Amino acid sequence: MTTILLKHISHLARFDGVLRDAGTEISDGFVLIRDNVIAACGPMADCPESAEQSVDRLLDMSDHVVMPGMVNTHHHFYQNLTRVMVQDDELFVWLKTLYPIWARLDDRAMATASRMAMAELIMSGCTTSSDHQYIMPNDCTLDTPIRVAQEMGLRFHAARGAMSRGESKGGLPPDSCVEEEDDILQDAERLIGTHHDMSDHAMTRIVLAPCSAFSVTQGLMKDAAALARAHDGVRLHSHIAEVLSEEEYCIETYGMRSVAYAESCDWLGPDVWFAHSIFLNDAEIRAFAETGTGATFCPSAHMRCGLGIMRTREMLDAGVVVGLGVDGSASNDTSNMFSEVRFAQFLQRVAPDRYLSEAPGGRGGFGGTPTALSVREALWMATRGGAHLLGRDDIGQIAAGKSADLIAVKRTQLGMAGTQRDPLAALVMCGPLNVDYSFVNGVPLVEQGSFTRLDIDAALRDHSETMERIYA
Ligand SMILES: [Zn+2]
Repeated sequence: MTTILLKHISHLARFDGVLRDAGTEISDGFVLIRDNVIAACGPMADCPESAEQSVDRLLDMSDHVVMPGMVNTHHHFYQNLTRVMVQDDELFVWLKTLYPIWARLDDRAMATASRMAMAELIMSGCTTSSDHQYIMPNDCTLDTPIRVAQEMGLRFHAARGAMSRGESKGGLPPDSCVEEEDDILQDAERLIGTHHDMSDHAMTRIVLAPCSAFSVTQGLMKDAAALARAHDGVRLHSHIAEVLSEEEYCIETYGMRSVAYAESCDWLGPDVWFAHSIFLNDAEIRAFAETGTGATFCPSAHMRCGLGIMRTREMLDAGVVVGLGVDGSASNDTSNMFSEVRFAQFLQRVAPDRYLSEAPGGRGGFGGTPTALSVREALWMATRGGAHLLGRDDIGQIAAGKSADLIAVKRTQLGMAGTQRDPLAALVMCGPLNVDYSFVNGVPLVEQGSFTRLDIDAALRDHSETMERIYA
């Protein structure tokens, strides 16, 4: 058994509450880790004296803010080999330009891309990530990012994405990028049997994730839902209402909007979460809330690709569980989790009054509301909200019995200067910052600002060489 004591934590935020009341915050706190689990936490005055004498490692955190590691609920790791491409086009053009490049990727390139994405996530405060790999060209399999996550030490929900509706069937992607339905379902079943772990503190779980209404056949949507529900804890994930042209496609192809189409495929429910969900109307928000369907807010991608603004405040008020996602690295173009929390808060503040203001003398400018989303709500979505979407109650908060996933950010650094009054808010409002320490399942992945398990220089060289190989 290994024990680690984080003592005299300058500011400890536990996220043991809900949204506006995000949870307990303690000055001069402690966290005791026993193997992969938090054994105890609270004010330093409550720390048992014996703990300090008997632990294997003692870390003084009097210069640190400590909070739960964050949960990223939407990503496409492989896209960091196509960053800063297609900078100024509409989503369908963006996709059609990138599909042929993604079709050249192989398993080795997927490993390289996954490693780089996970490194960025870890350094920016993420300790659990989902990844939606919906293109499986050449010899690619989902086993590879799972292996890389195990090497890196990141808690990982691997989403077996898929595309089955190519151009010849009226879909957006070229036929060369899609798979046969039977092959997809067989591989999904194999992955569940090989990797899906439903034990407490599990490091790997499988998600089934057909890509979108315009790249997946109706049959696959229904069969994937049935297959997931035949297994304990296998959740469903996809894109929805990401761009207006998707709504037009759904009406033309299926005769209904994207949410009604999802419902017709048996894709609303407490085991389903969708990325984006931007164009939901009032009734669709109610449908999400009533069925327990979750949503991932990806503010950077929504701004970067000019998609629109999700009605996050209204969705939260209606009772929809919302988490955050950095989205793929071709549409962000980073995997920075703290940055995503920052933009979530800021973008939502310009959203609630999204109509042109009616100022005396004429219309002008978009309105906003500074109370639309608080910094603690944004952080709650990044921790507890994300954990909920992934179906987990063992991560996302600092409490006895929960997985030992936590991060520490140093207070004495340039970006934190002058933030003594509210150092937790500073992590978002003054950021983005890097972590100084990151623990996942009790294992330190970052110590004193450096990776413990990754040679980042070698990983960067490999990434650069892989890009040259793919583009050659
Ligand atoms: Zn996406």
